[in-house]
Amino acid sequence: MGLGDIVVVPLALSISICFLSCSRDLLFVHAKEQNLTVTPINYDLYHSSGKFLEEINALVNRHSDMLSLETIKAGNKGYGAEVTVVTYSKRKEETEERSKFRILLSFGQHGRELITTEVALRILYILSGEQSLPNMDQASLNTTLDKLVIKVIPMENLNGRKIVEAGDLCERRNGRGVDLNRNWSVDWGKKEKDYDPYEENPGTAPFSEPEAQIMRKLAISFEPHVWINVHSGMEALFMPYDHKNTTLDDALPLKRMNSLLEEVNNLHFRKRCVVGSGGGSVGYFAHGTATDFMYDVVRVPMSFTFEIYGDGTASSRDCFKMFNPTEKTSYDRVLDEWSTTFFTIFKLGPLRLGDINSKAPSKLDKFVSIDEYLDGYLMERRNRYGKKMEVLDLGMQEIRTYFRLFLLSSVLLMFMFCSRISKAKTNRPVPAMPL
Ligand SMILES: [Zn+2]
Repeated sequence: MGLGDIVVVPLALSISICFLSCSRDLLFVHAKEQNLTVTPINYDLYHSSGKFLEEINALVNRHSDMLSLETIKAGNKGYGAEVTVVTYSKRKEETEERSKFRILLSFGQHGRELITTEVALRILYILSGEQSLPNMDQASLNTTLDKLVIKVIPMENLNGRKIVEAGDLCERRNGRGVDLNRNWSVDWGKKEKDYDPYEENPGTAPFSEPEAQIMRKLAISFEPHVWINVHSGMEALFMPYDHKNTTLDDALPLKRMNSLLEEVNNLHFRKRCVVGSGGGSVGYFAHGTATDFMYDVVRVPMSFTFEIYGDGTASSRDCFKMFNPTEKTSYDRVLDEWSTTFFTIFKLGPLRLGDINSKAPSKLDKFVSIDEYLDGYLMERRNRYGKKMEVLDLGMQEIRTYFRLFLLSSVLLMFMFCSRISKAKTNRPVPAMPL
């Protein structure tokens, strides 16, 4: 390809990350762009959006006992969008059962990341039983699937995808130039120094975009236990937060997510994926992302962003190559590896969450234990001061103990006070009844 003296490898990791900031200009530094060819979409491997949706429709029709499809439409200011949602439940009549463990998966939020939608299709084929999973015992798979309801958004950004198919291979935003992974309300609109509107335009307001509105509504009504936003640009398993550096501390949900991701990284990737908080693992922040909203507002206990493929050697203008495998062997490898990974999550998710699957992780469920409250409070403060404060870390146990003692003594005092009042009342002489 005549890459010549391109020095992209050290830059590749930080620059090719699709869901975070990826200013195209940065890659130009050492590249002789004029000599580079741009790889076209390989339609021998990839589906066009039209064929993709046709195939999904046909698949759902063939398996209407377990799959159903709805197309949700929304629009404003002359811009319309539609999002296709496929729901899987082994027995369709149990789709609405709240005792089931609920998983919400979104693919293709960024137009240029075609490989993600191919993984969605593979997962749906495996769920339908038309394709099988390499090295997975069918009986154990059946047991896993019995307990689940899975909603798959196979191509969240259809309008953006059409722009890519029309030739703008680097487009990641929606049909009117807004990044759908910056349009959510948690820390919305904040701009980093390397902000590039061609990549990260957050829109005119949180949820200004119909696609994001549809997704928000869907998530709030479905109340998933697991959310996974699937992207490409590198290989990573991210958890919250994207907009700030999360340290694990001892907050249970973060620890739980981290250990599940480490386990998956070990099982399927020989630890080659980056694991950790989106913001913390890469060194810069993404504001207004879907995963931060799912975790903070919808209170999805396991909220992830997976980055499933990236070619760090590709030129920044060669977006199809940068974000997608171009040959059959690597295409098949990504599909096999990641579909297996998703089914591992389907199996391990309910196990790792334990009893929570009998209880909806709803936004309405505002109860937090004292420990969790304190963890959150102290973590916030640590972040506000921009660095870890060891004193707070060391004092955590003591603070908890004092707080418990304080509460206990308050309750005792209240009890004593109240019993004195009622005693006083009963000793008072009863006035004579005027009869
Ligand atoms: Zn992306």
